[in-house]
Amino acid sequence: MTTKKTVTERLYDDYAQSFTVSDLLFEVRTEHQHLEIYETPALGRVMLLDGVVQTTEKDEFIYHEMMVHVPLFAHPNPKRVLIIGGGDGGIIREVMRHKNIEHVTQVEIDQSVIDMCKQYFPNHSAGAYDDPRANIVIADGKDFVANCTETFDVIISDSTDPIGPGEVLFTSDFYADEKKCLNPGGIMVAQNGVPFFQGDEITNTYTRLSKLYREASFYVAPVPTYTCGFMTLAWATDDEVLRQQSVDTIAERYEAAGFATRYYNPEIHCAAFALPNYIRELMK
Ligand code: SAM
Repeated sequence: MTTKKTVTERLYDDYAQSFTVSDLLFEVRTEHQHLEIYETPALGRVMLLDGVVQTTEKDEFIYHEMMVHVPLFAHPNPKRVLIIGGGDGGIIREVMRHKNIEHVTQVEIDQSVIDMCKQYFPNHSAGAYDDPRANIVIADGKDFVANCTETFDVIISDSTDPIGPGEVLFTSDFYADEKKCLNPGGIMVAQNGVPFFQGDEITNTYTRLSKLYREASFYVAPVPTYTCGFMTLAWATDDEVLRQQSVDTIAERYEAAGFATRYYNPEIHCAAFALPNYIRELMK
């Protein structure tokens, strides 16, 4: 009997997920992180950075649709979007589906991630990097917002976890500089971990964003390979109305946008802000 080769994610000391791999497609230690791409029977292609699952072909649609369409349909008239991180291309792909968006800047620290994901995950970016509205900047997101003179209607921070290069993107300084890049009535959303095991990330982010915005909260999505229940996505804005809009209002915008989605829909949009008590308890 052939022994199956498996890869184990080591995000937590005492809990792990493993998956069978059929092939190691690419591996490199970039100047920023360890990048691995595997072919797997269960998840399609999988990318890890520093041993942590970043994206898989099988479940990426859930995360990328929820990170993008919730803020872009909640905002009444978004034109300019800033993406921090997002090197696999899933976020910019979903943003470009909104034809009312006029400009997208994406600030990614690691060119290798963009290059390798274009090659091994072609359906993630699906040509979005070549969209004339796209402006790709290779830089540390922290430095970019600290020196940025442009402003945006929606900022989407699709970073790694707060370890390694992503750590700076969860600091008060970063959030403060980031807010200076947000237009009045703008919305900031960010990848904010799995509260079942990363509860401190909720408490820290809530504390830091609450000092800067009239409203800081979270919404949730169940991304299978971000294991242990809901993934929380941070939400911050000075316009509290934006989170309270009706399903009908969101549905009008969704219908007008004219594209199909596989996870997101107006009912899910509104329901995603209903947080379980164990997450609410972390928001203090
Ligand atoms: N969806 C994944 C998650 O929830 O963990 C994140 C995917 S995406 C691949 C994360 C990206 O953040 C990577 O491409 C990484 O290079 C980028 N990144 C990490 N730290 C960064 C920083 N300080 N500035 C800009 N990009 C950064």
